[in-house]
Parts: sequence; structure tokens; C-alpha cells
Amino acid sequence: MKKNIKDYNLDELKQVMASLGEKPYRAEQIFKWIMQDNVTSFDEMTNISIELRDKLKENFDLHVFNILKKQESKDGTKKYLFDVLDGNAIESVLMEYKHGFTICVSSQIGCKMGCKFCASTGVKFARNLSSGEIVEQLLAIQRDENIKISNLVFMGIGEPLDNYDNVMNAIKILNNQKGINMGARHISISTSGLVPKIYKLADENMQCTLSISLHSCSNKKRSEMMPVNDVYNIEELMKACRYYIQKTNRRISFEYALAKDNNDNLNDAEELSKLLKGMLCHVNLIPINKIENGKYIKSTNENIIKFRDYLNKKGIVATIRRELGSDIDAACGQLRKKEVEKCEPTQEPI
Ligand code: SF4
Repeated sequence: MKKNIKDYNLDELKQVMASLGEKPYRAEQIFKWIMQDNVTSFDEMTNISIELRDKLKENFDLHVFNILKKQESKDGTKKYLFDVLDGNAIESVLMEYKHGFTICVSSQIGCKMGCKFCASTGVKFARNLSSGEIVEQLLAIQRDENIKISNLVFMGIGEPLDNYDNVMNAIKILNNQKGINMGARHISISTSGLVPKIYKLADENMQCTLSISLHSCSNKKRSEMMPVNDVYNIEELMKACRYYIQKTNRRISFEYALAKDNNDNLNDAEELSKLLKGMLCHVNLIPINKIENGKYIKSTNENIIKFRDYLNKKGIVATIRRELGSDIDAACGQLRKKEVEKCEPTQEPI
């Protein structure tokens, strides 16, 4: 299979050009065609010689995704199922906010983490997505909708920190001013809590937003919801979060999905306020998305509001995430799960 030219950041593309006997400025021209002009063939690169275009065609591919399915919610949220050209499919979601368009991208084909409330659990993990495949999700939607996307969140299928190198390189590609030029502050990485990778990310000193899927302050309850907690418990996770804040001076966003009669009473809110006391953070309360055969049920609106108000009263900034796309397969992995004909047991969490 030819190499995906979108996998290369600009510095790497310059090296590729040198290996083809071309000048470095050629790399900038090609990078611009791909990332800014969003071309789907090398022949559209009209300021590149026909000889070089032929060389590119011989060695590389532009890896343009096919749209297998597109669902549109009444609230305007659009969910895409893409064919990633090797028989696998991934999901991406486009949301429109007052400040512009945000895309939620997948980082892996499937997920090894096994969170019990997630539709990706129960579908076999296939592989990591490459950097180019992460970036192509944004490019494909920009082509389809003829828009410019201003924010990107790694909250789709997969654990982004389990695909660390490709995710970091994708961010480098997205950041580049000669391409998409998306500032790191417009990018959020959401993790289930891979502690060693949180330390590594802190040391990169990037300005991305880090979101932690916390969901409970009790190790017992969190382990029931998220098996990753058996490997990295809440105490270790919070230590890593404090390190992240100290190194980056960035506020962490803690995701807390409220499940009825599980983690949504005021005792839980009290524990959470104690855990986060004095931290530079924000709590994002999420009405849990019920998945097929899942045991968790969405908390009542009344409980969600009480929970938020309790945290706010204790000085913890908490907001309730607006439910987008509730009339389509909104929960991460639901659309892909429907498309995967044979559901095989998920792999053991790491
Ligand atoms: S919630 Fe995220 S980390 Fe957990 S199984 Fe789903 S995709 Fe993986």
C-alpha cells in the first residue's frame, strides 16, 4: 500500500522532498494544497511540475475517506461514519456552537479501555489511527460541508493517550501555520486516565486542554465503570493531574457522567468537591448516554441540577454539558457498533 502523505508533518515532508531530490519549498507548496486547499488528487496541485506529481502518485496516496453514513440531528449535530479504506470504519461528529464549528474525532479503531458506559466496549479493537487519518476526519468534513472547523476534541472512539505518538503528530500537523493553523488551545484531549502518559503530556508543555474522564470519586465505583481504574487508581490519577497543572498552568476539565442511583447523589457531589478542592479545574457534568445493553441510566434533570449547584456552592466551577445529537446515535461508538456486523468480545483493558 502506498504511504499516506497526510501522515507527515511539514518537517518530515521536507525530508521526503529532499529524498526525492526536490527543494524544501516544494514541501510547503504540497502541505498547503493538502491542508489549506483540501485537494483530493495530486493533479489539482497546479504549481507542482507534472514530473513531481507523477513521483508523488507513484509513492503516495492522499487517503481520502469515503462517507459511509451521515446522520443529522434536529439540533444540527452531524455524525459521520467514514470508510478508512482498509475495511474498517470510524466515527466523527460535527457540532456547531456560537464560537464556531467543533469536530470530535476518533483516535483508534475500537478501544481497549472497556468503559462500561461506552458503545465502543464490546466491539473488537482493530488498530490505532495514523496521524493522517486523524487529520483527514477534519478535512473530509470541511470538504463535505464547505466550512472551516475551529476546534477539535479527541473524544470519539479510542483512548488518545493509548495512541500517543500519532495523536501528538496529528496535533503538530493541525497546529502548523502553513496548513490548518489550529492553535493548541483549540484542541482538547480526553483520557480515561493513563497516568504515565499524562506525565508525558505535561512535559510536552503544549497548550492543549486536558479532559479527564473521572465519573466517580470512589475507587470501587470507578473501577466498576472504568476498568482502567484497577491499573491507575484515583489517587495516582489526581497526582498526575496536579503535576499537569503545575507544569502547564492549564485548567483541567473533569468529565463526570451522571448515572441514576450510581454516582449522582449529594454525597458523591461532596466527595467530588473535596477531591478537587483548590485545583485549577472545571467539572463538566454529562447526562450519561444510555447504550444498548448498558446498565447505566441517565440521571434525572433534577439530580443533575442539584449536583451542579452543590459543586458551585463549594467553589468548584461546574457546568452541565448540553446534550447534542440525542436523536441520532450520539454516544461515542454507537454508529460504528451498528455497522460492525459481528461483535466480538472486547480486549482486556491495559
Ligand atoms: S469512553 Fe473512551 S476510553 Fe472508555 S471505552 Fe469508550 S472510547 Fe474507550
